[in-house]
Order: sequence, then C-alpha cells, then structure tokens
Amino acid sequence: MYDIVLRNGLIVDGTRSVPYIGSVGIIGDRIEDISRDKELVGKEEIDCTGLVISPGFIDLHTHSDACPLNDKSGESMVNQGVTLQIGGNCGISLIPATVENKDEISSFFARTVEIVPDDKNIDLYNMGDYISITNEKNQIINTGLLVGHGTLRAAVMGFDDRKANDEEMEAMKVLLDKELKGGAFGMSLGLIYPPSSYGDVEEFIELGKVIRDNEGIITTHMRDEGDGIFNSIDEMLEVAEKSGVHMHISHLKLMGTPQWGRSQEVLDKIDKAREKGAIITADQYPYEASATGLAALVPSWALSGGNTKMLERLEERSPELLKEIETIMNKRGGPSRVLIASTNGSSPEFDGKYISDISQEMNLDAVETVIQ
Ligand SMILES: [Zn+2]
Repeated sequence: MYDIVLRNGLIVDGTRSVPYIGSVGIIGDRIEDISRDKELVGKEEIDCTGLVISPGFIDLHTHSDACPLNDKSGESMVNQGVTLQIGGNCGISLIPATVENKDEISSFFARTVEIVPDDKNIDLYNMGDYISITNEKNQIINTGLLVGHGTLRAAVMGFDDRKANDEEMEAMKVLLDKELKGGAFGMSLGLIYPPSSYGDVEEFIELGKVIRDNEGIITTHMRDEGDGIFNSIDEMLEVAEKSGVHMHISHLKLMGTPQWGRSQEVLDKIDKAREKGAIITADQYPYEASATGLAALVPSWALSGGNTKMLERLEERSPELLKEIETIMNKRGGPSRVLIASTNGSSPEFDGKYISDISQEMNLDAVETVIQ
C-alpha cells in the first residue's frame, strides 16, 4: 500500500525514453514504484488520465532573487511544473553588496528586474545572508543563485565605464570565489546592461578561471543579439576556450527581422567550438518577443555612473542620445512593437500600451515618450 498513487498518467521521466501511460506509487517523499500495467493501490489515489506525470522542471533563467524575500512562496512557478528556479541572471543579482553601495545596487537591480526586496533595510550582502534569510521563508520551490557580473563589478568598482585595474580585478576574483564557495552556482554576464557591459574579454577570462576552479557555470546575455550576434558569440567562445569554463548562452535568438533565417549559421558556429573542446550550451524560449526594462533603449554610455547620472543625461537630451535611443528602439521593432507590460504601479495608465499609442495620447514623438 502506497501513501499516494498517481494513476494512468502519461509518464515523461526525463531520461528521453518514449513517454508511456502508467502509474506511480509514492511512500513519504520517495517514488517507490513506476508501473505500466501493475495495479498500484494507495491510501490516496489521484486519477491522472489525460495528464502528464514528470519530474519537476528546472527554470534556469529567472530574475526571482527578491521573490523569496518578499514572502512569495513560488506558487506561480510550481503551478507551471517548475520546482527549481535559478535567479541572478543577465549580470544582475542582489548580492554581493557592501554597506556603502547596497542602495545603488538595489536601484540597479530594480531598473531591470522590477521586483526589489520590500524590506529596504534587510541585511543582505552575500550568499550566506541570502541562504539564511530565504531558509526562514515559507518556500515551496527550490531556488539557486548566480552572481551577477554587473553586481560584482559594481560592488568592487562602482558604475563607471572603464577597464578594471589590477587591484580591482583581484578584488573581484576574491569576492566571486567567496560567493561561489558560499553556494552560488556560477556567474551571469549581462552585456547589454551596464556595468556588466563595461567588462571586456580579459576580465571575463580571469573571472572564468575562478568559476572553472569552483566547477561553476557562466550564463550570458550576449552583447548583441541582433546584427552583431556573430561577433558576440566569438567573444563568448574566446572566454570559454581560454578559461575552460562552462559557457551557457542565455535566451539564444536572432533579434530583428534582417537576421531572421540565420539560425543554422549560429548553431554551426557553436557546434564547431564544441568540436574543438569548448564547453558551450544554450537555451531558447519558444516565442518571438523579449522582455526587459525600458532602460535597455538607452545606450550603454548614457548609463555610465549609475541611475542619477542616467537621469541627468536624459534631462539634457543631447542630439546623439536622442538618435541612439531611436536606433535601438528601431532594432527592437520600433515604437509600435515596444509594449509597456508594467510600470510596477507608478503609472498604471501606461500599462499594456505600446510606445506608439502612448506617444499619440501624449502628443509627443516616440523618443520623447521613452524619455518621459
Ligand atoms: Zn537577459
């Protein structure tokens, strides 16, 4: 007699074997039997006819770092079948931070990720803090974390657009090593998001070696997912080859219609590097859209120095800034393809509208609408 029997579901067991109809017998928290034809009897039996029975899914690309801190139990993820989520992607994580720069890092996180800890005074500076705080929360999902390279860089050298000097490089390596030993699974790059985008190949190779030694992984939001994608892949392959780190390309895609149809070229390039021994993998989502913060329309140089500096530059409205915002927006499909999904409660009248609609309503041109 089992505690629970899941009866007559389509079993997809994660081993790539052909799915089959069967039943699963569970005692306590262990699967004790999986059977195609035996009649399993349980104290509780759940009819799974027409449903799939499978191990929990791993969502390796989330920005859910702050959700456990805000008493979000992970129910929405579990309802989709996800039982393990990995946060801290695209160069952006809540840790590491110091007392001096915690607020700046939090606002950097907020600019892209939108969900920030409700408690602004929470003592969250490193992996150890993260684990002990989240362990006390009522979580029904497992969470793992990557160190965002942008956060790591900001914690050591702020938000300036410059190369790291030897001392700063060493400090980043020490801090990264500490967080990896403290439980982080690896590091993420976010090369369209400053300050991660201010790093160069040499920096990534040096940090890559630290991650390799800790048997971690680098995930990467590449520098260019549009017309510059082939150079961007080369950059990542060089890091993988020279550091020996496992490089994982996040949300691999070809952005912008001129690039469509070139997937095979991208895949061939990756295959070739793998044949030469580089450890390189990628993931992809099955829809034609991307989601990020509106600041992704602002060029990297205009974000140098952090949030306050960005706002000053937007206020100035220099002709080259206006031009570049327009160019970036057009690469993403233009004002009629950029949708404001949410303003996180600050301007609900814009939620669910395209930039083109809002600019018509406000009687402003598209770039001015983005700035405002
Ligand atoms: Zn990303």
